[in-house]
Amino acid sequence: MVCIYCGSGTQVINSRPQKRLNQIWRRRKCLQCASILTSHEAFDLSASIRVELDGKVLSPFQRDLLFLSVYESCKHRPRALAEASGLTQTIITELLKKHLKDGQLTRNAIIQTSSEVLRRFDPSAAAIYQAYHK
Ligand SMILES: [Zn+2]
Repeated sequence: MVCIYCGSGTQVINSRPQKRLNQIWRRRKCLQCASILTSHEAFDLSASIRVELDGKVLSPFQRDLLFLSVYESCKHRPRALAEASGLTQTIITELLKKHLKDGQLTRNAIIQTSSEVLRRFDPSAAAIYQAYHK
């Protein structure tokens, strides 16, 4: 990866697995301006997982779409942005563990899992979510 400040090459100076997030965290140092940068290596879910919509149509999994629907459901909360990000990660982790089959998820599994995670977190957020995802 190149430095975001000057475009020169970077070198990895530290690296750690983040098991809960299934990511690799890396600290990089720019070889030119000596800036310290952080990167995360994670699977590209949109290239790896397809979603079955109402029967047969398959669509790439879109984390941003899931995040937006969770955020919309949590908007009444003061820390909605940060909470929606964490909740989205929890939903994805549960989906991959319990519902991923042959690289596919169903729309129903996404709605069901999102509803359950939101219900545990904030029942009114779950009610808002469910009103939009019948
Ligand atoms: Zn640099």
